[in-house]
Amino acid sequence: MIKLTKRQDEILQIVKQNGPITGKEIADKLSLSRAALRPDLAILTMSGSLDARPRVGYFFNEKIKVKRQAERFLYQKVNDYKALPIVVGKSTSVYDAIVQLFLEDVGTLYAVDTDGHLAGVISRKDLLRTSLGNRDLNELPVSVIMTRMPNIITINPEETLLEAAKKMIQNHIDSLPVVKEMDGQRNTYLLVGRITKTTITRAYLEIMDEKSD
Ligand code: ADP
Repeated sequence: MIKLTKRQDEILQIVKQNGPITGKEIADKLSLSRAALRPDLAILTMSGSLDARPRVGYFFNEKIKVKRQAERFLYQKVNDYKALPIVVGKSTSVYDAIVQLFLEDVGTLYAVDTDGHLAGVISRKDLLRTSLGNRDLNELPVSVIMTRMPNIITINPEETLLEAAKKMIQNHIDSLPVVKEMDGQRNTYLLVGRITKTTITRAYLEIMDEKSD
């Protein structure tokens, strides 16, 4: 994406508010000659920000705005959108985990070991499946039913929302723990957040709904 100069930005604003507008009218508003404006108008039309129609004038290209928003959305960093992870100890009972799920209003819990490192993922269906058996949910620790390391799909804070979305779709899962790898220790992660399909939808709405370009 090119960075606009102050004058190009002014032209863009004028066209946004007044378009379609002729080159002469834009020049008058800026107290410049048409010739002085020509290079800026050429850059703005070539970059796709403005469209020009003979005998009509210049007008703002709404499509490029949407394209830019979509690009911006794709490359947002996980770090800027991650939510707080909802965590239980891995010896927590399945019963307490279910209560926690309701209290926190989330779909997935993360289990940590005594060092606070990521140990497992417990989803709604993991809990439902367990509840269908005749087991005593108060006696059963989540460590028995969770998806555990090294099978957990993770994401790190510097990756993009696009990468997060791909990982969730490709692995048929609703959320990803956001982690930082502990120095030199393979599969030992510090849990710093979570990304869910809702996070992606919210980010999409926020960016596509922005009024300014
Ligand atoms: P649900 O089971 O409620 O539909 P998910 O689709 O997220 O929720 O989970 C499907 C299965 O994948 C569950 O068994 C869950 O433990 C596991 N799972 C969820 N998230 C992850 C993850 N990030 N990495 C590995 N497995 C996961």
